[in-house]
Amino acid sequence: MSGVVMDLDVKKIRQDFPNLHVSVHGKPLVYFDNAATTFKPRVVWEAMDGYYQKYASNVHRGIHELSEKATAAYEATRGKVQKFLNARDSKEIIFTRGTTESINLVAYSYGRHFLKDGDEILISEMEHHSNIVPWQMLCEEKGCILKVIPFNDQGELIYEEFERLLTAKTKLLSIVYISNSLGTINPVKKMIKAAHARGALVLVDAAQAVGHRRVDVQDLDCDFLAFSGHKLFGPTGVGVLYGKAELLNKMPPFHGGGDMISSVTFEKTTYAALPYKFEAGTPAVAEVIGLGAAIDYVLSVGFERIEACEQSLLEYGTRALQKVPGLKLIGAAREKAAVLSFILPGVHPHDIGTLVNDEGIAIRTGHHCTQPVMKHFGVPATSRASLSFYNTTAEIDRLVEALLKVREVFP
Ligand code: PLP
Repeated sequence: MSGVVMDLDVKKIRQDFPNLHVSVHGKPLVYFDNAATTFKPRVVWEAMDGYYQKYASNVHRGIHELSEKATAAYEATRGKVQKFLNARDSKEIIFTRGTTESINLVAYSYGRHFLKDGDEILISEMEHHSNIVPWQMLCEEKGCILKVIPFNDQGELIYEEFERLLTAKTKLLSIVYISNSLGTINPVKKMIKAAHARGALVLVDAAQAVGHRRVDVQDLDCDFLAFSGHKLFGPTGVGVLYGKAELLNKMPPFHGGGDMISSVTFEKTTYAALPYKFEAGTPAVAEVIGLGAAIDYVLSVGFERIEACEQSLLEYGTRALQKVPGLKLIGAAREKAAVLSFILPGVHPHDIGTLVNDEGIAIRTGHHCTQPVMKHFGVPATSRASLSFYNTTAEIDRLVEALLKVREVFP
């Protein structure tokens, strides 16, 4: 196992993730499915355990000691997310179940209320299905038109096409920051500026960004931003929608129920102020607390070191995979995150996934919830190794060895 990579003591870091030390088929696990979900450092479930063992209680509802403690811990995470994203105000941070729910919230609440027949919504060809389907549902209901920015064979958005498609009719640009199936890092800051100049709002799908680079919503000037806790070394079942307060204030609630009201009578209900207007019902308290611990952990590692480490793994992996005869990488953007999607002509990705699993290596095979990306390249699926800062070059070598064995089985 390689030790220190770019000032990052990977060996020490790996001790924080017990999941990295399990065996699969009698071999030490290599976990290369980080784009699907990351492993969680010990501090995350210790924080959740602490809640369940010592102060498990509902939030915002009781004045008893435990409820106050739970509320304080829950709200402390909101403050951490605010700082993490550099949002102006903690009320701009809404807890959801994840990226998918955050995007659906905007489509349902903003889209249904403010968009109308003939308005255009702009997305890209490399979106995850969760940034396609909610807009299609909205278009069907409201008569809006969905426009799609194409990408080239390197997996880079064709910027001139973006500029051409961005018109006075465009009311919303909803764009992925980092593609989960190609690794492409999109020039979102520049795109947001261009969209604003045309009067369009922008939602950024930051699901694959927040665990790998610093994301600053004021610097980006995005109107909405969505991410999931479980791709940021935190628990499943919790995510975030950031929205500018002036927009969130104008938007109607998404779900109705407890906690999101100011007063209820049978004649008229008034809604709570931000952020509670969008947090109906008992939230995922333990998960929110776990997300807070995950953010503390990531910041303690530091994004400079994370980015440097992952970029060197990407370079190493890109070179190393070339040793496998016939292997073709899918996605070769100049600005790219540590995602290695590939095909081996003549071998179905599911066979690749099964055979490398026999060697203890977890990669993802399939369409990665990006069927239009697969269509672009004329393949039903790819194999994908998605790396994180706790991975090593030695693990990449093991993947290459396993793929060479696959080549022996399917010459
Ligand atoms: N957007 C991107 C780019 C993703 O990679 C994913 C998940 O893989 C999602 C959205 C959806 O995230 P979730 O399933 O956590 O809601």
